[in-house]
Amino acid sequence: ATEAEEQDVVIIGGGVAGYVAAIKAGQAGLKVTCIEKRGILGGTCLNVGCIPSKSLLNNSALFHQIQHDTKNRGIEVEGLKLNLQQMMKAKDTSVAGLTKGIEFLFKKNNVNYIRGTGAFKDEHTIDVNLIDGGETSVKGKNIIIATGSEATPFPGLTIDEKKVITSTGAIALTDLPKKMVVIGGGIIGLEMASVWSRLGTEVTIVEFLGQIGGPGMDAEISKMAQKLLTKQGMKFKLNTKVTSGEVNADSLKIHVEAAKGGKEEALDADVVLVAIGRRPYSAGLGFEKIGIETDDKGRFIIDHEYRTKIPHIRVIGDCTFGPMLAHKAEEEGVAAIEYITKGSGHVNYGAIPSVMYTHPEVAWVGQNEAELKAQDVKYKVGTFPFSANSRAKTNLDTDGMVKFLSDAETDRILGVHIVGSNAGEMIGEATLALEYGASSEDVARTSHAHPTLSEAFKEAAMATYDKAIHF
Ligand code: FAD
Ligand code: NAD
Repeated sequence: ATEAEEQDVVIIGGGVAGYVAAIKAGQAGLKVTCIEKRGILGGTCLNVGCIPSKSLLNNSALFHQIQHDTKNRGIEVEGLKLNLQQMMKAKDTSVAGLTKGIEFLFKKNNVNYIRGTGAFKDEHTIDVNLIDGGETSVKGKNIIIATGSEATPFPGLTIDEKKVITSTGAIALTDLPKKMVVIGGGIIGLEMASVWSRLGTEVTIVEFLGQIGGPGMDAEISKMAQKLLTKQGMKFKLNTKVTSGEVNADSLKIHVEAAKGGKEEALDADVVLVAIGRRPYSAGLGFEKIGIETDDKGRFIIDHEYRTKIPHIRVIGDCTFGPMLAHKAEEEGVAAIEYITKGSGHVNYGAIPSVMYTHPEVAWVGQNEAELKAQDVKYKVGTFPFSANSRAKTNLDTDGMVKFLSDAETDRILGVHIVGSNAGEMIGEATLALEYGASSEDVARTSHAHPTLSEAFKEAAMATYDKAIHF
């Protein structure tokens, strides 16, 4: 595109938020340009986030299961060996396939793709510093900012992605560390700790709060997950803060103390993973020049139609409010374009699922017990353990439970929380139920195939207003 060809929409950032918006705009027949500075589409999620982490989680789980959980199944394996290089290659293959797929979808939907870094020249013009050299600029009637997020650094620890790493380094280590300290027991910390611990690293997780899992995870579920992860070999230091780190040529020392002050300790490690959250990314975008504002956390300030105070400039994904999740970014990509083309869009922020892809998985949607108590909502609880589910028993994989929270008076589902194999798939049903305003009785009176893990889901729903059959 050149300045002469004004676009209907210009999107800055080709991550999940940006690329989905671009495809949706192309489908709607809009003239659309997407600018991405990485040179590869898919953003954090496809390149260094969801996809590579899930590849490593899947294959490390397989390795761990073959090592620890086959004999009793009648499978004897000899000569098991880790080939880390090949495991990384398998990950890279998945990433490459998916990122190329988006380039294909761009072509299919007539999205003009510019590989370079975009910066505001004025309210309608974006200057682009091209990856292959040179510059161009592109004008848009509408502009969508979808510049994503980056790891929050830990003060005093300089990230080199080799010894002091973020998740980006944690998905690309070339040698198996002996000891790893993870700062932050949120989702990134626990997923990455799972990968390396399964492969043989001694992992200690230091978490400031009294529970793991990051914001949103129900306390009872978090406790259960911690117990199961501890059984797998991970060590936890809760209510503990890292005060400083010493990086030497061949070793690391991480100093920690009780969160409320007091007991101090030094932890040795080969690698320290900083996983204390992510923050919106907008470096070099030049948004200040046109008067767009961010809040004290760096999130772009927008209204319910994703508009900044300059109404034709919208913001979606990790760089604005809401959970930093790929599927949330995707929903916003669709809705932002629908606001442009139809004047209305729809995202139900009360029904966005969260999944932690450990083993077992942890998944939830809606509210947890602490949130309901804080709002003084009267609720009922229904639970069902996988140890009483026939399929989990035949699979010899019975850890975890399903927990329903429903309104005490109306029985309307308020939240569903699951620890268990396949929780990430099962939460889809809970999300649909929540979206449609279902009661737990609606779910319990729906036939679920036998023998499936989802029968535990049905029986937990049943247990909120009646008794479960199998427990
Ligand atoms: P991003 O994916 O960060 O994309 C923004 C893009 O904009 C980037 O590619 C960047 O290069 C580009 N950009 C920035 N500035 C400019 C500019 N000036 N010009 C041009 N381009 C620019 N979420 C899940 O839902 N499930 C998961 O399993 C999951 N796993 C994760 C695992 C890890 C290790 C991490 C780090 C994150 C994970 N996430 C997961 C979160 C998910 O990756 C993000 O929520 C998602 O990527 C947000 O999409 P986005 O488009 O808003 O931002
Ligand atoms: P997070 O906010 O989920 O967890 C960070 C944890 O670090 C919290 O528990 C916090 O209490 C703790 N913490 C903060 N400062 C600390 C300190 N100084 N010492 C010790 N602990 C400290 O953040 P994250 O795990 O880094 O993940 C970032 C984002 O990426 C999240 O929004 C998450 O949703 C997203 N993500 C999602 C998935 C998924 O959906 N499966 C996977 C990875 C990342």
